[in-house]
Amino acid sequence: DRAAAASAPITDGALADGTAVPLLANLGNADGAADAVALGAEGVGLFRTEFLFLSSNQAPTVEQQREAYTKLLAAFPGKKVVVRVLDAGADKPLAFLNDAHEENPALGLRGIRALRASEDILREQLTALAEADAATDADLWVMAPMVATVEETTYFTELTRDYGIKTAGVMVEVPSSALLADRILVDADFASIGTNDLTQYTLAADRLLGSVASFQDPWHPAVLRLIREVGDAGRANGKPVGICGEAAADPLLAVVLVGLGATSLSMAPTALADVRATLLQHTLDQAREIASAALAASDAASARTAAQAAATR
Ligand code: PEP
Ligand code: MG
Repeated sequence: DRAAAASAPITDGALADGTAVPLLANLGNADGAADAVALGAEGVGLFRTEFLFLSSNQAPTVEQQREAYTKLLAAFPGKKVVVRVLDAGADKPLAFLNDAHEENPALGLRGIRALRASEDILREQLTALAEADAATDADLWVMAPMVATVEETTYFTELTRDYGIKTAGVMVEVPSSALLADRILVDADFASIGTNDLTQYTLAADRLLGSVASFQDPWHPAVLRLIREVGDAGRANGKPVGICGEAAADPLLAVVLVGLGATSLSMAPTALADVRATLLQHTLDQAREIASAALAASDAASARTAAQAAATR
């Protein structure tokens, strides 16, 4: 239970059979790094860079960004730190980047699409990241949000490597990129599944709209099937597949995600203890069986019930 998990020793994330499942932190700014380390984060699986941009009506300078990224990377010597380039638009609008008059901003010029339309902002961000990388010894991975095509993947990975950044990947949070993950993972070094947006787009239900909130459930087997596609593609290409959406913070769903092929899980640091404790109760074979039970369900509620039953067998 929660109390037992909180008092259990902090070990690296692993299944009962010893299979390592690195447990990483989602961070919204570098100030959260010390708490994440104290709670046992083995690195950062999602660093959201929007905070640097949201508080102002113009982009931060390269120097301001370098300082923020250096502070982050310095807190994780020798550890993996996955930084997402600016994800502007829809639920994270930016006056100087997004058109406020789009009728459907979630389907508009957002994420990597918006960055391509203002490529100088992306180039400045990559410059600052490369400089922070050179000044520290964390293992920097950089990824693009809202990638929908193989072409966007190639664009982003080539541009990122031009800046000397060694590891370039994409977020899979649009169904098209989940379905094409086997192609995307030819160019990308890794994929990280954003289950919040992947659920929104799979169920066609605005994640910010209360009247359709019941659709925003990552247990939905349609979402799980897409995640399985990505897991299979990762295995086939020998590339890591992380999860960085809220789903990874649900301990039983975390087991399902590993069973579907996720190789690391990233979450709010306060969720790490419960997920760590639950992973230790199942082997990889069991996680795959629990995932199969969830995949066979017709809806989110029965997927959870089926997974729960399979987990206690
Ligand atoms: C996601 O969509 O799951 C995700 C991790 O990104 P964000 O919540 O920042 O859109
Ligand atoms: Mg997202």
